Amino acid sequence: MSTSKPIYVTQPDLPPLDDLIPMLEQIWDSRILTNGGPFHQQLEDALCEYLGVPYISLFANGTIALVTAIRALGITGEVITTPYSFVATAHALLWNDLTPVFVDIEPTTLNLDPAKIEAAITPQTTAILPVHCYGNPCDVEAIEDIADRHSLQVVYDAAHAFGVKCHCGSILNHGDLSVLSFHATKVFNTLEGGAIVCQDADTKRYIDQLKNFGFTSETTVVETGINGKMNEFNAAVGLLQLQHVDPAIEHRETIDVAYRQGLKDIPGIRCHSPSEPTRSNYSYFPIFVEDDYPLTRDQLYDKLKANGINGRRYFYPLITEFTMYWDLEDSVPADLSVAKDVAERVICLPIYSELSIDKVKSIVKQIVSI
Ligand SMILES: *Cc1c(COP(=O)(O)O)cnc(C)c1O
Repeated sequence: MSTSKPIYVTQPDLPPLDDLIPMLEQIWDSRILTNGGPFHQQLEDALCEYLGVPYISLFANGTIALVTAIRALGITGEVITTPYSFVATAHALLWNDLTPVFVDIEPTTLNLDPAKIEAAITPQTTAILPVHCYGNPCDVEAIEDIADRHSLQVVYDAAHAFGVKCHCGSILNHGDLSVLSFHATKVFNTLEGGAIVCQDADTKRYIDQLKNFGFTSETTVVETGINGKMNEFNAAVGLLQLQHVDPAIEHRETIDVAYRQGLKDIPGIRCHSPSEPTRSNYSYFPIFVEDDYPLTRDQLYDKLKANGINGRRYFYPLITEFTMYWDLEDSVPADLSVAKDVAERVICLPIYSELSIDKVKSIVKQIVSI
């Protein structure tokens, strides 16, 4: 039994409190707390610049942003998505009265397998909702090609992909819309928060209306909108976080390197190694427990936990295991064997900007010394 403080899969970054106080004073002085105040505006501008995207609309959280993004595109019927994600991905479809159609993932990237998408398309299919799992880009070209040929819209759940770049720039510029989460557990957090990235001013205006009840003026409501607005407190935190996110990602990279180095010769432990994007964010460090490891995944998970190391089995169970996804009428029963296998083997190891390399080495030691 370890007596030191338990280590969790992540520990949220926070900016220096002293930097926040003057911003809180501004909020207190102005009494502008929300509804697109000055910090909200500044954070939208700063994020467009940092991320390299043309337009962004801030939200109270990533899930409301996903629900709103799907609504904004007027998606109907069936939507092809991945079972290997956080449950909010598919929940956003159910909240829009849409039918998720689950397609298996590709074994090296763990993203929706483009080779299996077309077989799942029916006359009711109108969109694809892929996830850049662990921040590793989907095969955006293949997905775009399928979408173009079948006139489907594409919304990327980019909750893991803050700051990720591919050869053509920000990964967030692919698809019709991309959705970010700024939840406490993510690489960039505003405590709670999220955003929709879009490519033109009209779409941004429409999304801004939808997140504000559908108001277009003081007296006009044109849509069944929702309240999805980010408030000034969260926006102020976000502005400060942005000043520290690059060193945080750099430290995550050193952790990633240390884990890979330490785990590379352990039989039965496989690190997730899809081809690296131009810029990664090192948001997660998943390992897979194979049959030649002396313990099962759950035995290793429990052993680490007993020693104060709290990994997470992201993503287990698969979304399709939750009861509300059991009886999906109209959806073709899919072969999800890759996702099922991975979900049984995965453990995400702790990774965050204040995790020391010594701690990483001690975690590796636990995994080696079986
Ligand atoms: C975190 C997450 C969400 C939900 O974001 P919230 O901001 O927590 O609502 C959606 N999809 C994925 C893949 C996530 O990891």
